[in-house]
Amino acid sequence: MVTVTATANPAQHQKRAYRPVPSVWSRVTSNALPLVREIWQGCWQRSSWTMVAVIRLMLVLVLATIFSWLGIILSRQSAGVATIWLSNGLIFGLLITQPRTRWMAYFLAGLTADTVADMIYGDPFKLAAGVSLANSIEVVSSCVLLTLIFGSPLDLSRRKTLVGFLLISVLGATALTSALGAWWTIFLMPGPPWWQMFRNWYLGDMLGMAVIAPLVIMVQRPAFFSMFERKKLLHTLMVLSYPMIVTAVVFMDSRDPLLFFMFPAFVLVAFRLGLPGTAVNIFLVTLMTIGFTVKGHGPLMLIAGEDMLLHRIVIAQLFAAVAIFTMFPVAAVLEEKQRLKDSLAASEERYRNLAHVDELTELPNRRAFNLRLERAWTEAFEEDKSLALVILDADLFKQYNDSVGHLGGDACLRSIGQVIAEIVKAANGFAARIGGEEFAVILADATEERALEVAEAIRLGVVSLGLPHPSSPCGVQTVSLGVSIRRPLSGQGSIDLMRLADKALYEAKLLGRNQVASE
Ligand code: GH3
Ligand code: MG
Ligand code: MG
Repeated sequence: MVTVTATANPAQHQKRAYRPVPSVWSRVTSNALPLVREIWQGCWQRSSWTMVAVIRLMLVLVLATIFSWLGIILSRQSAGVATIWLSNGLIFGLLITQPRTRWMAYFLAGLTADTVADMIYGDPFKLAAGVSLANSIEVVSSCVLLTLIFGSPLDLSRRKTLVGFLLISVLGATALTSALGAWWTIFLMPGPPWWQMFRNWYLGDMLGMAVIAPLVIMVQRPAFFSMFERKKLLHTLMVLSYPMIVTAVVFMDSRDPLLFFMFPAFVLVAFRLGLPGTAVNIFLVTLMTIGFTVKGHGPLMLIAGEDMLLHRIVIAQLFAAVAIFTMFPVAAVLEEKQRLKDSLAASEERYRNLAHVDELTELPNRRAFNLRLERAWTEAFEEDKSLALVILDADLFKQYNDSVGHLGGDACLRSIGQVIAEIVKAANGFAARIGGEEFAVILADATEERALEVAEAIRLGVVSLGLPHPSSPCGVQTVSLGVSIRRPLSGQGSIDLMRLADKALYEAKLLGRNQVASE
């Protein structure tokens, strides 16, 4: 009989042990309590409130009251239906970009603004406060959940975060708010059936969140305004005006259902202006679509009947919602692709550089030297100028390694490299490490005297490093240098210059090292 023992696969075990990937659920459950504690405790900390932060909060209070008021005005113009509820998206966008320690204050500001606006409109306090509380729950639950899942700051240009925002804030939290608000209203003053009230609120709330929040979040980032820089302004305005013109044309005609003409314009904005442009486009087009429909223009007038306004508004809202749920993900995917392209180009540039740099001394390497020498030779030939080459070899380096060890030898090569780099930079030349303990210097359009001067300066520079060398006649590490200088003639190549410099180096070694020889 064969017994099978359940042994854990070691590779799998290692994977689990070293790379634990916390699930969304565990991330949410383990971080929820600390986050709520941070929000609550932060609200009492004076340190989180600078003067600027307090002024910003006051402005938010005023702005949120205006936005709530606008929402109510819009609903007055459209048979009591909140076609687009603006204030929740505004407060959400302003709140999520603030430190968590200030969230509680923003929550209270939103609650106050909504209640005040409702009461100005004429609602009793109990109704206004209850409905406003439902709105604030939408804002806070969205902020908490999105932060727990996607971290902060919330980056809507990432596809996953954007889809999370659409699902959690636009579809989910608004449903909760609309359900609570409808229940509270019916509880206080009986009116239309719950589901009808829920539907009216839900669509308006959803649109407001989807249209306003991304715009408010993006406007607070400096990158948003790059499309309005002087160089890009004309292009941006032209691209943005295209969908607006199409919308105006489509909605001025009430006889033909031409809505489908609008999507190519939206796609153009997404391709040309990315997510920030799409946020602006969706905002403007949604307002236009709903505005025209409420005023009795556009293809939705084809829904015939005296009391069909509510039905037309719902269809206009659904149209805007479909545009949002189509165009935002498209724009986010395009941005992600662009980011990937940019990072690939940056990494290609990095690797191209690495392929031409010597790791030890950080000087150009042999490959870079070969290319440079070839180019310098061709240029010197074309311009009929002379080209000088210095080849340098560390003296008795094997013995140096023996006395200080290989790592000490490496440090010595780095120091020699620094000496060469400094001198050659001042001489406007090009230095490279072309082998183990060999370096080369290219000097374009230099006289022989100048080339010998540079070589001698390098020799003295290395001596003055004073690196003790037991087998060296002068007690310190030295270098030998071979110099060649030629005006290129046809039929010759840079290899000839190399050969001459090598020959000179050999002579310098023969003559006793620590010296410069030329050919
Ligand atoms: P000579 O004066 O005739 O040039 O004598 P040398 O000992 O310098 O000549 P040789 O070419 O025989 O030895 C070069 C030595 O350089 C051998 C090798 O161990 C050492 N070397 C080459 N590359 C490196 C390196 O990257 N790091 C270290 N530490 N040593 C290196
Ligand atoms: Mg050598
Ligand atoms: Mg050597």
